[in-house]
Amino acid sequence: AEAELIRAQRFESLAMLAGGLSHDLRNLLQPLLLAGDSLQDYQDDPRLARLGSLVRDCGRRGLQMVQSMLSFARGARRAEQVRVGALMDALGLLLRGSVPRAVKMDVEVDDRELAFEGNHTELQQALLNLCLNAIQAMGEDGGQLRVVARECELAADFFLPGEQPHPGRFLCLTVADTGPGMSPEVREHLFEPFFTTKESGTGLGLLSCKRIVASHNGVMRLDSEPGKGTVFNLYIPIEEPAAEVVAQEEQGESLMG
Ligand code: ADP
Repeated sequence: AEAELIRAQRFESLAMLAGGLSHDLRNLLQPLLLAGDSLQDYQDDPRLARLGSLVRDCGRRGLQMVQSMLSFARGARRAEQVRVGALMDALGLLLRGSVPRAVKMDVEVDDRELAFEGNHTELQQALLNLCLNAIQAMGEDGGQLRVVARECELAADFFLPGEQPHPGRFLCLTVADTGPGMSPEVREHLFEPFFTTKESGTGLGLLSCKRIVASHNGVMRLDSEPGKGTVFNLYIPIEEPAAEVVAQEEQGESLMG
């Protein structure tokens, strides 16, 4: 219970940090967006117009990230229809320019039209974190980065103790790299705030990834060994639990007082 408390406290300070930072960043980005808008008015100078749309697009993306950091801090979340195709396209766009020549990136999407309730920006952020980690882990030698989105069915026995089992249809998002993999020590501390093995790492990437998956009622699996590369699987439920399951759970709750 004490460890639980310490963890909760850490989350609390992390949330405060994120909240304060996002607030300041938002105030900084808004005038930038306006500036981008007015630059776009100079239509007869194509260079200025291009600059304008660049400034505006980056500003807007920054604002979206800040927004998701703010909602992380508040613990609130906007639910919307997330489309798998759009999610993967957005990831590709964000990664463009960050994939070194030595890294071969493969994206595989089963069903682009698959849609489910969730938060696009958050999931995009989670995938981006995993991909950037993978690219960094592979380093100069490069390797293969594989991103896969497919539908799957999970049975009750898939879930670990402590997780709420909810068998059914899931979207499985896989990010796999052929990097060095992780030692048991690294694996043990992976999700702790500020745990990093990088000189300029934040140690917040995987934690926020985990939070995002949890806020989608999903679960996350990691398969990583030294010399064998790393595979992250995010399982996001894509349908409401069947009415009878909900009824059973509610009954269970009332029985427990
Ligand atoms: P950061 O990237 O800022 O260090 P993260 O929470 O994203 O923070 O990652 C924590 C640590 O987990 C990293 O410093 C690294 O040691 C390890 N790690 C994460 N992803 C991978 C990966 N794909 N391969 C090997 N190690 C990884």
